[in-house]
Amino acid sequence: MTEKLYYLDSHLASFRAEVISCTQTEKGFEVVLDRTAFYPLGGGQAADTGVLGNARVLDTREQGKDIIHLCDAALTPGTQVEGTIDYQDRFVRMQQHSGEHIVSGIIHQRWGYHNTGFHMNLQSVVIDFDGVIPVEVLPEIEAEANRAVMRNIPVRVFTPGPEELAALSYRTKRALPWPVRIVEIPGYDTCACCGTHVAATGEIGLIKLFSAIPFRGGTRMEMACGVPALALLNRVFEQNKQVSRLLSAQITQTGQAVEKLLCTLESWKTKALNLEKQSLLARVDAFGGAGNCFTFGGDLSPDGLRELTDGAARVSGGITAVFGEMAEGFDYCLALPGGDLRSLNKEMNAALSGRGGGKPPFQMGRLRASKEEIRKFFLEKGFRQI
Ligand SMILES: [Zn+2]
Repeated sequence: MTEKLYYLDSHLASFRAEVISCTQTEKGFEVVLDRTAFYPLGGGQAADTGVLGNARVLDTREQGKDIIHLCDAALTPGTQVEGTIDYQDRFVRMQQHSGEHIVSGIIHQRWGYHNTGFHMNLQSVVIDFDGVIPVEVLPEIEAEANRAVMRNIPVRVFTPGPEELAALSYRTKRALPWPVRIVEIPGYDTCACCGTHVAATGEIGLIKLFSAIPFRGGTRMEMACGVPALALLNRVFEQNKQVSRLLSAQITQTGQAVEKLLCTLESWKTKALNLEKQSLLARVDAFGGAGNCFTFGGDLSPDGLRELTDGAARVSGGITAVFGEMAEGFDYCLALPGGDLRSLNKEMNAALSGRGGGKPPFQMGRLRASKEEIRKFFLEKGFRQI
């Protein structure tokens, strides 16, 4: 039986213990100590990693009354070893886990919803609730949760007697046999939990709710606490600073500045398309009576390419092929009012590495061939280049 030091002091980073056994397995060496500060995987909280003597602890699991440390080197039974957990990671997990208690507790008090799923890593926490939480209330819940952080409330962990437990109202995923370990954040949450937690809520530092989306008839909420919450907010702040600098906007008004920029862009786009239309109309004249003909239209928009082809086909009196220059290859349109261009389109795509289709009198697509290859193909067919 391993003594669980992490339950006596969740902040204990280093300890000394006696090696009880060391068993070689396919994955490494399974070491059992008389006592440990390494928390094993469980209750939605990941296993601790760290160092035991000269060995690296890769994973920690609970097996019956023992805690198994999966190590990358053998340790000698009967000897004393120094153990050190990766405390920064553990502390983040305690921040995340304790913050999750506060948020789940607030939601339970307000709506009576239960937490049906819980996934936590070093970046974020995902909680599933069995009821609908409108996304509009997230700021309110977040503010209330952060008030609990600022009040620096001591976290109480205890194992009540059978009668006290029977009288206690607490959150749990399923009915548990006595004894039950209860984690209480007075005023906010009382929950059955086997994880490790901060000693007082102030250590959580910060609770940031990201999103609440509909999930299996309930809600999936994503959040982060403490160190990862600050790291994420810093990244977002950095991005916002860049936008603020690029748009010469106040850092708290970048949204409005982007909206304004998009409006301006939209009006320039309309102007550009109108100009393109005018220039296309002027170009159509050149196709008058040209018969079967082709042209390289330059850098045209998809609409511009179609319009030039349409306009030119109305006056050319033959098949009209127009090519728009793209980063790789050419977009094309083939038109013959009242005609059927499917076989020409098929032949052209086969010869010029293309793909496309459409209605019989109007075919469109993209060719990967060079300008010279396209030119050669159409000149050989007796088309006139415009
Ligand atoms: Zn917990």
